Amino acid sequence: MQKSGGFTEAAKVKVQEEEQDMKKVVKFGGSSLANAQQFKKAGEIIQGDIARCYVVPSAPGKRFSGDEKVTDMLYGCYHAAEADEDFSDKLEAIKERYYEIIRGLGLELSLEEEFAQIAENFRAKAGSDYAASRGEFLNGKIMAAYLDYDFIDAAEVIRFQDDGAFDGEETDRLLGERLNACQNAVIPGFYGALANGTVKTFSRGGSDVTGSIVAKAAHADLYENWTDVSGFLVTDPQIVEQPEVIETITYRELRELSYMGATVLHEEAIFPVRKEGIPINIRNTNRPEEKGTFIVESTCKKPKYTITGIAGKKGFCSINIEKSMMNGEIGFGRKVLQVFEDQGISFEHVPSGIDTMTIYVHQEEFEEKEQQVIAGIHRAVQPDFVEMESDLALIAVVGRGMRSTRGTAGRIFSALAHVDVNVKMIDQGSSELNIIIGVENRDFEKAIRAIYDIFVVTRI
Ligand code: ASP
Repeated sequence: MQKSGGFTEAAKVKVQEEEQDMKKVVKFGGSSLANAQQFKKAGEIIQGDIARCYVVPSAPGKRFSGDEKVTDMLYGCYHAAEADEDFSDKLEAIKERYYEIIRGLGLELSLEEEFAQIAENFRAKAGSDYAASRGEFLNGKIMAAYLDYDFIDAAEVIRFQDDGAFDGEETDRLLGERLNACQNAVIPGFYGALANGTVKTFSRGGSDVTGSIVAKAAHADLYENWTDVSGFLVTDPQIVEQPEVIETITYRELRELSYMGATVLHEEAIFPVRKEGIPINIRNTNRPEEKGTFIVESTCKKPKYTITGIAGKKGFCSINIEKSMMNGEIGFGRKVLQVFEDQGISFEHVPSGIDTMTIYVHQEEFEEKEQQVIAGIHRAVQPDFVEMESDLALIAVVGRGMRSTRGTAGRIFSALAHVDVNVKMIDQGSSELNIIIGVENRDFEKAIRAIYDIFVVTRI
């Protein structure tokens, strides 16, 4: 069995001196642990800093494009078991994924007992959450053996309530106790269990959440989230070629950008660490020399550019309501929004004028109930007319730097005018943290490129 990843004791002592008392929780995503080669990179990263004492692994992800994630293989295998089909070939293929890693790492580790147990539980229909959780469980076993760290089964320390909600208090207690008792440990991501032992997973990508929970319970100084990108990018790389990496972003900015579609981290992963003021550092396993992105509660560090990021989504429509003297009619807005609530439709933005009120909604959600909503509005407020526009996109320009910079909105709109984009709507949140712009779907990419250019490329 390999121990300590080949680092000399002297080098370790040196790192220890530099990082004295620091405690870091490190989470590695599926692509960072997809095969032995990736595992070795992760191992080197962990051994390179003595502060990296608690490790949260995902299940092995895709080794190449078109490959299948082990989690998906497990769901497929369990599906067959549930339908009383023969699932042995499917389970064998999963086993081979793990043995490929074990062999590549030169470990003498057997997972035969674990696989026999899994097959038995699949036959007993232990549930699809249990099935999926085995991806992280087995990868955690390998990681613990590889690093010579303790293994803590997440089912024993991550607790869910009977109604399925995550039980933060009980988890903190159970996990805190266990972590206190060991210096180094591997805690598999993605799952936990109810008090009666039934395994339950978070939603997909949930190992990010486990990492955050472990960081909180360990009172860590930093939560490092190792993935296959160099951090949070200023905008979508499918729209702007090689956009810059954001060095530091606040939790609030991140929320705004994630809501508008920018994803690197599971949405729920920020809450546990945020409560404790623990920063998250997004890092790239394939480029460990890069600093990645720091996600922090607040910072006095000046952002590099006035804006921190740009994100957006297509597929909205607007319902424009006009009625003269609307402004004097108390309760008008409430009555209109009540119609949307009654139909179970959530609204995104509500810009208004003297005699007009516009409601932005998700087109897909709205389309089915369109006529009921229109009739409801007529009944509720007797408007002069109601008009709809579809195929709209919303773009959020987010940045804590906007509050102290004059002319941000002016620059955005002149950039958009320059590329001939018609602005349909403007909404600046009272936090002055973001400006939301509505454009037509077909102008979406062009608008984002123009905004990126003006703030990041030309910086005028
Ligand atoms: N393995 C799980 C998934 O594929 C959880 C994770 O990777 O975070 O969603």
